[in-house]
Amino acid sequence: MKKLIIAIDGPAGAGKSTVAQILAHRLHYNYIDTGAMYRGITWKAMKSNVIGNTTAIERIVQNIDIKLTYINGKTTVLIDGSDVTAEIRTPEVSRMVSEVAQVQTVREVMLQLQREMAVHGGVVMDGRDIGTHVLPNADIKIFLTASIKERAERRWRELTEKGFEVKLEELEEEIATRDKNDCEREFAPLVQASDAILIDTTFLSIEEAVEEITKICEERYSLV
Ligand code: C5P
Repeated sequence: MKKLIIAIDGPAGAGKSTVAQILAHRLHYNYIDTGAMYRGITWKAMKSNVIGNTTAIERIVQNIDIKLTYINGKTTVLIDGSDVTAEIRTPEVSRMVSEVAQVQTVREVMLQLQREMAVHGGVVMDGRDIGTHVLPNADIKIFLTASIKERAERRWRELTEKGFEVKLEELEEEIATRDKNDCEREFAPLVQASDAILIDTTFLSIEEAVEEITKICEERYSLV
């Protein structure tokens, strides 16, 4: 049976990673969280105190060892051999990541890595530029979105559950800034691919969003 390449793009907090992981699990596919890769580089740049120093960030990305594993529905991120799965999700990393992700060399290195990861098919990859730049020939492209208010509330619930003290208004502001940076950057900005299917999850549960995508897979490829 053909092993598909499924690309899911969209703004922060639209539910991409949760939806993509459930879908990958259901299809027995690999899940690749490209946001985690940009977060890993940002984490290292912050640790090395080089935020704002493009040359130093370029040096980091040319020497970094990023490994993503997806086992039993759980993604683990290793940077130079250290497990940073939790550290890359802090509000501090979230605030800096879209700045680091604008650096052209960072994007070029990630593009190569991400393409290699998808070369055998059977993957669900999520991010901002997957359907437009990384995997323009993906079999199925989804653009997942939701209102900014809903996305901020979801992030607030997620972070609060993890024990972070965050204010809803600040999160909404941070997400708006990140959206703006991601949409307006010069290289591979966040934009819906012309052949992507738009799914607005503002009033959809995670399960309903997964169902919609599963239906699309079924209709096109009799997969599930
Ligand atoms: O998906 P997540 O919210 O974890 O992504 C964090 C950030 O990484 C995004 O806001 C964006 O700046 C960057 N990113 C990107 N291209 C991708 C995935 C993420 O620029 N394919």
